[in-house]
This record gives sequence, C-alpha cells and structure tokens, in this order.
Amino acid sequence: MSDQPTPMMVQYLAIRDANPGALLFYRMGDFYEMFFEDALAASAALDIALTKRGTHQGEPIPMCGVPVHAAESYLLTLIRKGFRVAIAEQMEDPAEAKKRGSKSVVARDVVRLVTPGTLTEDSLLEARRHNFLASFATVRDESALAWVDISTGAFRVSPCPLVRLGPELARHAPRELLVLEGSGLDDLAQEAGAALTELAAGSFDSTAAVRRLSAMFGVETLDGFGNFSRAELAAMGAIADYLELTQRGNLPLLRPPVREAAGGAMQIDAATRRNLELTQALSGGREGSLLAAIDRTVTAAGARLLDRRISAPSRDLGEIHARQAAVSYLVEAPRLTADLREALSRAPDMDRAISRIALDRAGPRDLAAIRAGLTQGAAIAALLPEDAGAVLTEAARDLVGHDELIDLLDEALVAEPPLLTRDGGFTASGYDEDLDETRRLRDEGRGVIAGMQADYIRETGVTSLKIKHNNVLGYFIETTTTHAERMLAAPLNERFIHRQTTANQIRFTTVELSELETRILNARDRALEIERGVFARLVAAVLAQAGPIGQAARALAEIDLQGAFADLATGENWVRPTVDDSRAFEITGGRHPVVERALKRKGETFVANDCALTAGETPAIWLLTGPNMAGKSTFLRQNALIAVLAQAGAFVPASAAHIGMVSQLFSRVGAADDLARGRSTFMVEMVETAAILNQADDHALVILDEIGRGTATWDGLSIAWAVMEHLHATNRCRALFATHYHEMTALSARLDGVENATVTVREWEGEVIFLHEVKKGAADRSYGVQVARLAGLPGSVVERAKEILHTLESGEREGAARPQMLLDDLPLFRAAPPPAPKAAAPKASPAEARLREINPDTLTPREALDLLYQLKDLQ
Ligand code: ADP
Repeated sequence: MSDQPTPMMVQYLAIRDANPGALLFYRMGDFYEMFFEDALAASAALDIALTKRGTHQGEPIPMCGVPVHAAESYLLTLIRKGFRVAIAEQMEDPAEAKKRGSKSVVARDVVRLVTPGTLTEDSLLEARRHNFLASFATVRDESALAWVDISTGAFRVSPCPLVRLGPELARHAPRELLVLEGSGLDDLAQEAGAALTELAAGSFDSTAAVRRLSAMFGVETLDGFGNFSRAELAAMGAIADYLELTQRGNLPLLRPPVREAAGGAMQIDAATRRNLELTQALSGGREGSLLAAIDRTVTAAGARLLDRRISAPSRDLGEIHARQAAVSYLVEAPRLTADLREALSRAPDMDRAISRIALDRAGPRDLAAIRAGLTQGAAIAALLPEDAGAVLTEAARDLVGHDELIDLLDEALVAEPPLLTRDGGFTASGYDEDLDETRRLRDEGRGVIAGMQADYIRETGVTSLKIKHNNVLGYFIETTTTHAERMLAAPLNERFIHRQTTANQIRFTTVELSELETRILNARDRALEIERGVFARLVAAVLAQAGPIGQAARALAEIDLQGAFADLATGENWVRPTVDDSRAFEITGGRHPVVERALKRKGETFVANDCALTAGETPAIWLLTGPNMAGKSTFLRQNALIAVLAQAGAFVPASAAHIGMVSQLFSRVGAADDLARGRSTFMVEMVETAAILNQADDHALVILDEIGRGTATWDGLSIAWAVMEHLHATNRCRALFATHYHEMTALSARLDGVENATVTVREWEGEVIFLHEVKKGAADRSYGVQVARLAGLPGSVVERAKEILHTLESGEREGAARPQMLLDDLPLFRAAPPPAPKAAAPKASPAEARLREINPDTLTPREALDLLYQLKDLQ
C-alpha cells in the first residue's frame, strides 16, 4: 500500500518535474515545504531541521519547511548560495478542494521562479546597486550582449564580440548570465561573479525574439526602438523568454530596449577594473573602492547611476561637457545644491516601486513611494532655475506634469499606509463614499456591542459579564462559572445559548449577537473588497503613467548625481578638467582620492603630484623608478582614476587637468597573487600584458606596475624592456611604467617620448624618508636594503645585505664581468654581531646613549645645563 504515492505526492512530483533545476517551495498552509533531495539541500544550506513525512516507494520522505511570513530571508540565503527556487502556491481555497471530495488535493501551481537575476523585493536587493540579468547570443559571426534590471526596468543591448564579453561582464557585473546550452562560458561567468543559466536554442531564436519582444512592448514592429542585428534580437529575445518562464505571466515593466553602440564608453577590461578598484576593493567589498570614496549621492537611484558612470566613463565629448557644466553650475550655487540634496533625500526609490507594481507584487507603500517621489520631483523642478544648463533643465522638465496623478494618490491614500493590502486601511477617508459608509457600519457595530453588554448585565444581574471576541468563536458572552446555574436555567437559558464551558468560564451567544456579528463581518469584508478595488484602480492609474514616472525617476537620479559631484568638488577641492579630443594628459597637483581619504582619517596629508604625459608626434611614456613604498603605484593609479572621473563628467582631484579623451584604459600589476583562479601568477601577468599590447590604440592610457616582477631578474628585465619598446613603437599611446629595474632608465635616451621620473626619498642617518614627490629623472638607487630594515629584518641580515650590495655596486662600476664572480669573492661569513637587544638598532654613540636615557620633562633648567656639559664631554 505504502508504495502508492498519495494524491498530494503525485501533485508534488508533477510540479517538481515540470520545473527542473530549481528547489521547489511547496505551499502548505503557513509553510513552504520541501521534500526529497530539495529538503536535504535546503536544510543544509539554511541550517534548518530535517524531518520526515510519510513514505515514498517504501522509503521515508525527507522534509523541511520555512514559514511563509519569513520566507524572504530564506530565499535570499538560497539565492546567494546559487540556488534557484520555484514557488508553488495554493491556487484555491482549501475549502473548495474539500467540496470536491475528501481525497481531493488543493490545486497548486508555480507562480514564480526566483533566480539571482530576476529579484524585485527590496529585502533581496541591494538598494545602491543594479541587479542585472544579462544574455549573450551569437548568430552566424555576430555576437551581442543584452542586459536588463527588472527591478528598475532598464533594458539595453549592444554588439559584443566574444573577446569583449569578459570586459563587458566586468562592467555590468550581472547576477545571472543567459547563454545557449553548451556554449562553454562557465569560466567567464564565474569570473564575473554571475550565475550561469543555459537555455535551449529555441530561447535564442531571433525570429521568435521579434514576436516575443513585440508582444512584450505591445507594438507591431520593433523598428521604432532602433535597428537591431540578428544577434542583438536573439540576446534580447532570450531575456524576454526567460522572464516569461520565471515570472509566469506577470511580465515586468521594462523600458523599450536601448541600443548602445560599441565604443560609446571608455573601454576598461576586467583586470583593470579590479586593479583600479573602481567599484569594488581588492578585498571584495565596496569599502576601499573609488566608488565608496566618492559616493555622495543621497538616493539609491543616484548611487546606481554613479556606479554606471564610473563603470563606463563616456567617450562622447558633448555629453561630458554638458555634465561638467551641470556640476559647475551647482558648485557655483551651493545654497541651491544643499536645497536640492535635502529634497532629494526625501524621494523614495520610484524605479523599484514601479517595477513591483507592474509585477503585481506591490503593496500600498509602493503607491505611496510613487506619490512621494513625484511630489518631491515637482518641488525639485521648481527649485531649478531656467539657466541651469541642458542636463539639469531637461531633468526638471521630466519632473513636472504629474499633478493629476499626485492629486489622485494624495486623495486616495492615507499618509502612512500599511505594508500589505491584505488588511486594508490604506484608503483615505473621504475618497470613496461607499467605503466610508461601510466603515461606519463596521465601527458602529463595535459601539453597539458595548451597549449590548450593558443591557445583558442589567438583564442577568451578572455584573462580571463581558462580550468578547476570538478567532474561533467570533463574538461571545462570557461569565464566570459561579453564575453557571443561573445562566443555564430558565428563563435566561431561553435567550442565552450555551456555546462552551472552560475551567473558569462559560460562554454563550444570542441570536441578536450573532446577527450583529454577521453585520460587522459583512461590513469588514465589504470594506476590504472596496479597498481592493481602490488599490487596483490606483495601480492602473500609476501604470498608465509608467513611462513618464520612469523618466522622472531617472531625472531625480541625474540631479542627485550632479549634486553629489558638486558637493564632492567643493568639499574636497577638486577642479573641472579640460577634456578634448587631443592626446594630452597634463595633471597638476593630482591626488589619489582613496589614499588621500585614508590618510586624512589618520591626520596625514597626501602629497600632490604632477603628471605631464602629452602624446603628440611621439607617444608619451614615463618610466617611473623609486624604492618600494615610495608611492609609485599610488601615482600610477591616481592618474588612471583622474581619467575615469573626468570622463564620468565629474571634477577631478587635482589643481588643474587637461585630458585628451581616453579611449581605453589598461592597468596591470606584475605578479599579483591570483591563486583563486589557479593560474601561475606570472602566466596571468603575461596573458594580461599580451592583451594590452594587442589592443591598445593611440588614444589609450596604459598603466604598468612592475611588469616582469613575477620571474627571474634577467627574464623580467628583458620582458619589461621589450614591452616598453612595443608600447612605444606599435601602440604609441600614453603610458606610465613603474619598474624597479634601473637598467631600463637607459631607454629614455634611446626612445623619443620616453622620460624618466622618480618618486623621491631622502636618506637620513641610514634611514629612508619617503617624500612621495614625483620628479623628472631616475632614482639613484633602490633603497631596498633600507626598506627591508624598516620592515623589521634583523640588524645582522640588513648589515650583511648592505655589504653584498656594496660589493655588487662597486663591481658594476669597475666593469666586472659577472655578478657571480663578485659574490665568489665575498667573505663567506661575516663576524657575527654581538647579540643586541633590539635587532634593528644601529650602534649608538655614548652621547646618543646618554640622550636616550634622559626625560626632558623631569629636568630642571639647571640640570639641563649640566647635562649639556656632560654631553659635550662625551662627544
Ligand atoms: P610603491 O608602489 O612605490 O611601493 P605605494 O604607491 O604602494 O608605493 O605607496 C606606499 C604608501 O605610501 C601608500 O600606502 C601611502 O600610504 C603612501 N603614499 C603613497 N603616495 C603618497 C602621496 N603622494 N602622499 C602621501 N602618502 C603617499
């Protein structure tokens, strides 16, 4: 018998088999239950108890469950751990099922497939980050990438040859990537941190795509949106198909797809993004990244826009200039900026609210968010003067004209509506007469009950009698058992109908009370029904304006971003860079925004440095030498970041800057540990360097930090040398090249446009002092030995190293053939130094020793004078 699956199990298995690849959340009353392998996986992932329920083919069925009200946090954990979850709801009232017969199972179906790229709930999303779902398609020899954020409706597509896929994924950082099954892009997806979802060829069919997209946007033809290639259609079509699959009929409200031409943005590949820590620090988090250091936006949508601009700095001069003009305008008008920012901080995230409204997952607060956003928007538009420049005035234009909708929402919604529609209470009184009337009935009913209780006390003489309510009995009359006899006897027992006896109480009802209860309940249900209708009407009114609301949301983000840039420029003393289409790169007094911020927190100041890297007839390359810790990497990176900021439309951390448009930005660090990807560090370094040499054009900016470090000295030097020659002769771009190979400084004499620069240090009493100043010329020596001492290497080792260095250096001057021969001549052992208490302390003179002993705070002037004489004697 037990082999026969129960009807419920039959249903469960059917639903599960129809949704392969996903954990099935199977709704049973107040729980989502999981069975079989799903239960095993989920109980481990969520750390919840595993139980059993019934048997299947003779084996007990493993089961675990999560309460519906807390399901979101469990969902979040599962999604983060790489699961997809299919949510099967009860599609009818269990009472309906019972009517069909005792064996009948409640109808259930999957209403949604939750995947990393298709989240909309605020609790599952990071407010200040996009949540992109991307799709990559190839048709014949063309490829394209489409990406969509269903939580905000942004939908874009661009041509994307396979070699550009890595950098593009690095730029968008999608949560999920759709590809054709078997396309072998697992590594790329993993590198970009995206979950890979493989779809069948049908999903990528470009003809079906046209049909799907036309249906999705309710248009006859897609021509109005632009001219798309077959590959672009296929990529977008796969997204449409996947959304149909995961959202089960509730299609998200997407904006029409926008085609981004390749070459519209500064190209920055994945390694460069990582190195420069644009949006994420090397440690993984946002803290420590450029984004975190400069983010002064006050809205989540503004923060997301900043992320986009920093991830894809523009290459459109007109666009850059217009954005700079907006920042300048706001810098000049600090009061206005402060007022705008204050108003913006009260504008909620309309993008995400409207996407939930479109997906039928909204509550009254989402409507209130639209109301507050549009209201703030109108106030902000009124603040902006007409001469504020194209970017700001265009934004202001998108913020007006919503009065009708604002009025409607104002009239219809209470000031602070509840989260859920379920219990009603969000509709303002005075909006719907019918509702007001019904609510009055409901509330009056409650008043009538109070009167009824007084009547019953009088009638029975039981002063402790009360009318109460609970969920099982509804309204009932309650007295203590001491009055039982009286209540249960004639004549009272004719009116008071016994319902329940508990340990201390007896409970009754009356015909009158049940009638009243029915009236109250009816009024409540009716009120809820009316409110549901109100909600649906408001949702429809909002959705009818979805386009303009989306534009208003974008306008608020734009104003927020420009205000944030202005605030940053003023607060941090940044300047407006001159950006043109030359190949200039002249930075005066440049600073590294992240390092400067960190130093400031410690009360230290950052040393500003110039960089003159203007390429003309010749390329422009600086060869930077200087000891470790001098500030070479910082200098290199700060110049790259200044280019990014300039083309993102921001001001830059410098006292003056002139930047010829940078087409591509490359940054590589030699021998960075890359154990995570399991490749040899040197191999990684060379692969990445090859990418630069093969791709960089003459408008590129290339930053190479200690390339060649990952291998033996002579190999490394030779590679660095050859790389430099290639950059000079073939790429002809602007480049900064930091190296500890002093031999390379000779290149400046041989190659036009190559200059030596060094980060200065001063040596003082055997110690190095880092001045962090960059100046023309080559470093005289590397100070490696001194730096080693700073690091706490034992004194004996440092001394020995100095000796070896000295021998090598003098040998070099005397033209010794091979260092090996010099080393052969070194005495094998140095006399062991006497054991010193502090390894790093050099031998102190008697005067110094005496000086160390004294504490000036405890000396009288007389003692101080005596001491001076003593010291003089010791000299
Ligand atoms: P290198 O690449 O030469 O080894 P880094 O660029 O890593 O040196 O800099 C080492 C440290 O020196 C940094 O962590 C920073 O604290 C400090 N530093 C670098 N540049 C400056 C500067 N311009 N002003 C002040 N401190 C700096």
